[in-house]
Amino acid sequence: MPLTPEQSAEIEDLRATPRQTLRAVSEGAEKHLYKAHPVLDHGFVRMIDYMGDDAAICQAARVSYGRGTKSVQNDEGLIRYLMRHWHSTPFEMCELKLHVKLPVFVARQWIRHRTANVNEYSARYSILDREFYIPRAEDLAAQSAQNNQGRGDVLGEEESARVLDWLREDAHRAYDHYEQMISDDGQQGLARELARMNLPANIYTQWYWKVDLHNLFHFLRLRADSHAQYEIRVYADAICEMVRDWVPAAYRAFEEYRLGGVTLSASGVECLRRMLAGEEVTQETSGMSAREWREFKGEWQ
Ligand SMILES: Cc1cc2nc3c(=O)[nH]c(=O)nc-3n(C[C@H](O)[C@H](O)[C@H](O)COP(=O)(O)OP(=O)(O)OC[C@H]3O[C@@H](n4cnc5c(N)ncnc54)[C@H](O)[C@@H]3O)c2cc1C
Repeated sequence: MPLTPEQSAEIEDLRATPRQTLRAVSEGAEKHLYKAHPVLDHGFVRMIDYMGDDAAICQAARVSYGRGTKSVQNDEGLIRYLMRHWHSTPFEMCELKLHVKLPVFVARQWIRHRTANVNEYSARYSILDREFYIPRAEDLAAQSAQNNQGRGDVLGEEESARVLDWLREDAHRAYDHYEQMISDDGQQGLARELARMNLPANIYTQWYWKVDLHNLFHFLRLRADSHAQYEIRVYADAICEMVRDWVPAAYRAFEEYRLGGVTLSASGVECLRRMLAGEEVTQETSGMSAREWREFKGEWQ
């Protein structure tokens, strides 16, 4: 349960008091506003605010005096054109503000995306909650033999039970010591900014994260991808659901040209041309390394 009953009541209150506005409103985004979408065991993603909609992208692209929309079909065609030709600045006119609760080791990957604005919960000022990400047994996998940055087979029952016991034990022992260090009961009590250093990387943190749609698509392209670590991918997947509802035409274009599209190297394009002309091309005759060839073929086989 990621939210307390009091937090849920506050969210319900916010949702119960809509206001009139002259700003662009996306019906799809409105249904997500403030709600927490659960991710992992204690995490969530909440849409706190948004600016713009599909029409705002067209409005900016046409540098319009009004709404900038023509027909829905015409607008969608324009959005697809912009996405296809990397004309990215109109997408920057839309913004999304999220509240995210996530394990610290996921936050370390996430924060690498420098084009967002972030404000994180302060563990200097506040005491962190005793909440740790403990994976489900089916998400505990061995090191991949092919990919140094990935997982292979799921661990056997005995090994995964041992791992889960250690994860829980270590986390709780570290938290017990954290609590004991900050306590001022019969001692001075260590400052929170120092005591936090023994906490494990699976403890949860929270932040507000604001980003424009162009850079959000870049984040989603990398983090909703099968090569991204599962624990960040599930957050990206949850955000994809929101973006699909917020700016449906832009999201369809993103799915078409980014998520579902592939990028070929010059050698890849040349091989494809030769293959389409009926030539049997092998790795040896492709001019690519074994790995490049495997990745090239992996795009459609
Ligand atoms: C599968 C995967 C594996 C990874 N493995 C590692 C790893 O082993 N080690 C590691 O350290 N990182 C790793 N990363 C992180 C990766 O290198 C990037 O730091 C991260 O994905 C953020 O990408 P970005 O810089 O494009 O995004 P953002 O920071 O959001 O930037 C978006 C774009 O803005 C531009 N930009 C932003 N800031 C600058 C700048 N200062 N100078 C120039 N251009 C800028 C660039 O065009 C950039 O692409 C991995 C990422 C993925 C997805």
